[in-house]
Amino acid sequence: MTVNAYGAHAADKPLESLAITRRAPGPHDVQIEIAYCGVCHSDLHTVKAEWAGTVYPCVPGHEIVGRVSAVGAHVHGFLPGDLVGVGCMVDSCRHCADCEDGLENYCDGMVGTYNGPTADAPGHTLGGYSERIVVHERYVLRVRHPEEQLAAVAPLLCAGITTYSPLRHWNAGPGKTVGIVGIGGLGHMGIKLARAMGAHVVAFTTSESKRGDAAALGAHEVVVSRDAAALAARARSLDLIVDTVAAPHDLDAYLTLLKRDGTMVLVGAPATPHPSPQVFNLIMKRRALAGSMIGGIPETQEMLDFCAEHGIVADIEMIRADEINGAYERMLRGDVKYRFVIDNATLGA
Ligand code: NAP
Ligand code: ZN
Ligand code: ZN
Repeated sequence: MTVNAYGAHAADKPLESLAITRRAPGPHDVQIEIAYCGVCHSDLHTVKAEWAGTVYPCVPGHEIVGRVSAVGAHVHGFLPGDLVGVGCMVDSCRHCADCEDGLENYCDGMVGTYNGPTADAPGHTLGGYSERIVVHERYVLRVRHPEEQLAAVAPLLCAGITTYSPLRHWNAGPGKTVGIVGIGGLGHMGIKLARAMGAHVVAFTTSESKRGDAAALGAHEVVVSRDAAALAARARSLDLIVDTVAAPHDLDAYLTLLKRDGTMVLVGAPATPHPSPQVFNLIMKRRALAGSMIGGIPETQEMLDFCAEHGIVADIEMIRADEINGAYERMLRGDVKYRFVIDNATLGA
């Protein structure tokens, strides 16, 4: 089946309209008509080949929501008409320790929703900037939000789970002070989720213009990180920091804000390394520097249900598919309030 999509033929080419094929649903597959797809900074890193290993044509998009249009004979969890989501992965080995623990995101055989190996043409996965996707039922999530919120649910599938998972793993909650660094797609979800978990939330932004927004999103305190004195005033005050910044920067400025035994989790994935932090900033207070990648399928469902229960969605700006290249330029300038979402009905236009 041929469907309309948006993607790039090379790292130095803009995204353009193209046609791709989707397999007929197998016995365990769910076929989804994609209504909306969020625009993640990882899409941009991949399309522009800022990370190693991009294959073309590249059709990004891993914040997918839509409606089931067909299911295979052995699918029991989903029916045509169901509202569903697909996040950053569409397959994994299904039998390793990570898969058995529901941490498919850490499986060595994890297959990304785009740019991953597949038997389907053209030999690598093609993502959500497309009208339809066919996914094994194990990797399909149920959306319980009201349908009117569907577009704003899309970013939960990556930005939501990528911040939810470390917040849960490092026990964000009442009595904990949590810093969120970088108020973009991930960061704005991090503020909302940490707040809903009951933590005291401190937002760190390079953009003075986001000060008011960060407070409205739920931050108890907002620090403009270009102000060294304002940063220093928070020294040894945070239990946990989730750093979402998409570019290399000074980690010491934030490590020193952790209390004894505090942890700084890197989720931002810049194309070039951060300068190495000072070892003494770790040693002196037994601080930890960690990383975290998206979240497993069970935890992604838990996050979606948590958000439905707490009325949490992303703050979005809807775009047409043909506006994607301009949206990428704005994302590079940090000018996103706070996630672009493609209206996939415009793919055929
Ligand atoms: P985004 O919407 O572009 O947000 C990134 C934010 O970082 C910006 O809005 C900006 O916030 C801040 N920033 C500060 N200096 C910057 C600079 N020089 N360049 C760019 N941003 C700067 O991106 P996103 O979609 O949230 O993704 C953030 C990063 O996380 C990307 O590297 C992405 O690939 C990565 N990611 C990782 C995972 C994972 O599993 N670990 C999952 C998804 C995405 P302020 O204006 O507030 O400073
Ligand atoms: Zn993403
Ligand atoms: Zn596995």
